[in-house]
Amino acid sequence: MTHETPQTTGRHRVVVIGSGFGGLFGAKALKRADVEVTMIAKTTHHLFQPLLYQVATGILSQGEIAPPTREVLADQKNARVLLGDVTNIDLERRVVTSQVLGRETFTPYDSLIVAAGAGQSYFGNDHFAVHAPGMKSIDDALELRGRIFGAFELAELAETEEEIERLLTFVVVGAGPTGVEMAGQIAELAQRTLKHDFRRINARDARVILLDAANQVLPPFGAKLGEATKRSLEKRGVEVRLGEMVVDVDERGLTVQQKSGEQERIEAVTKVWAAGVQASPLGKHLAEQTGAPVDRAGRIGVNPDLTLLGHPEVFVVGDMIALDNLPGVAQVAIQGAKYAAKEIDNRLKGKAPQKPFKYFDKGSMATISRFSAVALVGKIRITGFIAWLMWLAVHLIYLTGFKNRVTALLHWAVTFLGTGRAERVATEQQIFGRQALERLEHGAADLVSAPGELDAMRERLEAQAVEEARLTDSGERGVKVGS
Ligand SMILES: Cc1cc2nc3c(=O)[nH]c(=O)nc-3n(C[C@H](O)[C@H](O)[C@H](O)COP(=O)(O)OP(=O)(O)OC[C@H]3O[C@@H](n4cnc5c(N)ncnc54)[C@H](O)[C@@H]3O)c2cc1C
Repeated sequence: MTHETPQTTGRHRVVVIGSGFGGLFGAKALKRADVEVTMIAKTTHHLFQPLLYQVATGILSQGEIAPPTREVLADQKNARVLLGDVTNIDLERRVVTSQVLGRETFTPYDSLIVAAGAGQSYFGNDHFAVHAPGMKSIDDALELRGRIFGAFELAELAETEEEIERLLTFVVVGAGPTGVEMAGQIAELAQRTLKHDFRRINARDARVILLDAANQVLPPFGAKLGEATKRSLEKRGVEVRLGEMVVDVDERGLTVQQKSGEQERIEAVTKVWAAGVQASPLGKHLAEQTGAPVDRAGRIGVNPDLTLLGHPEVFVVGDMIALDNLPGVAQVAIQGAKYAAKEIDNRLKGKAPQKPFKYFDKGSMATISRFSAVALVGKIRITGFIAWLMWLAVHLIYLTGFKNRVTALLHWAVTFLGTGRAERVATEQQIFGRQALERLEHGAADLVSAPGELDAMRERLEAQAVEEARLTDSGERGVKVGS
C-alpha cells in the first residue's frame, strides 16, 4: 500500500530525516521559519545516546533518555512527525520514500535535511553481532541489560566453577567513551549493587575486561587523560587489555589476537561491542546519485556549507558526514542542523548565505564510575570528582524534557548515593527478541497483516457478530428441554 504525504499549508516544505540530535535540533530550529516541517524517523523517540549505557546497566529507564519525538514537537505547529524507515531519496523528483510494516509513504520536499546518524560497525564481521550486541539503540541497551543481569542469575544456578567463571566474565570491546563507561558500570554493579543479592556466587568475583586493538584508552582525549582513565578503571577492578584485536566471537567467548600474532581464547558469555561506527547507508545512497565521496566508515563528503554535491537544497549533518575530520559527537550534529535550518530560513528571506560551517568544540567527557570522570575542555584536562560534577550538569541540561531531568536525577541519587539500581527488570523477549526477528524474512512486517488485509478480516468479524446476535435473538442457542 502506498500513500503520499499531503501538503498542509502550501508553504516551503522541509523534510528532516532522523529524530536524533541532528534531526530534532534541526526541526526545532525551524520553529519560527515560514516552512512546513516533516520529520521522518524510524523510531518514535529522540534518543539521548550518551546515556544508553545507564539503561543497559539498570540505572535509568529507557523513557528517561528517549522521549517521544511527537511529544517534544507537539507545540511546534509547523512540524509534523512521521514514523518510517527511509528507503529512497529521489534527488531528481525531490521525494523521500519511507516504509513501515509494509506501508510505503512518499513525501515531497523543497529542502531536505538528512540526519540519519550511524550504526555499529563490526569491521566486516557482522556475524559477531549475534553474540556481542552493540550500543546504538534502546533495543540494544535493553538486550544488554537482560544479558548482564541474566548472566548473574545463571551463574547462581551453575554447577561448575568453570561455568560460573564463564558467566561472570564480561568483555567490553572498544575503549572509547562508551566502552569505558560500560566497563566502569558493570564493575560497579558487581562490586556494589549486587554484592549482597546472591547466595551461591559472590557477585564481586565478576571479571570485567575492557579490550581494544589500539594502545590507548580514550584516544580522542589525549595520552594523559587516557592513562588516567586506565589507572582509574584498574583501581576499580577492570582489566584493561590494549593492543588486542578480537578475531572471533561465539556464544561462550571470544578470541583475541596480540600484535605478535599470538591468539588467546577468553571464556565469557556476555560481550558488549562498543568498537566501531558505520554511517547510515543513506550516505552511500546519496553518493551514488551525485558522485560525492564516501569514506571507509560510510560517511559522505559534503560541501563546506553542509550541502550535498550539486544539490544546494539538500543538507547532510551529524555522524553521516566526513568534513574537516569532525568527530562523531552530538554537538557536531546539533550545530550542523542549526546551521542548515538557518540557511533554509535565510534563503526564504532572501538573505546572503552564511560563512562555511564551523564547529565550536565545547569539550568532551566520559564517566568512569560514580564520582569519577574525565573531561577535556579546550586545553584543560580535568579528572575525578570535579569532572564527574561537570558530567552531571551537562547531561542534566541536555536531557530532553523537564520530567526526564527530574526522574533521572532521582535515579542517579538511588545509584550514586545509595547502592541500588532502579531499573533492573529484564525480560526473555528483551534478550532473544532481536535474534527471533532476524530469523523472519521481512522482520516485524512478517508478523502483521499487510495493509488492506485487515479489511477482509473486519468483514469476517462483522458477519460473525451479526450471526451471533441472530442466534441469540431467534432463540436458536442451546438445547431446549423437552424438545
Ligand atoms: C553509546 C553512545 C554514546 C555516546 N556518547 C556521546 C557523548 O558522551 N557525547 C557526545 O557528544 N556524543 C556521544 N555519542 C555520539 C552522539 O550520540 C552522536 O554523535 C549523535 O547522536 C549524532 O547525531 P545524528 O543526528 O547524526 O545521529 P543520531 O542521533 O544517531 O540520529 C539518527 C536518527 O536517524 C534515524 N534514522 C537512521 N536511519 C534512518 C532511516 N533510514 N530512515 C529513517 N530514520 C533513520 C534514527 O532512528 C535516528 O533518529 C555517543 C553515541 C553512542 C552510540
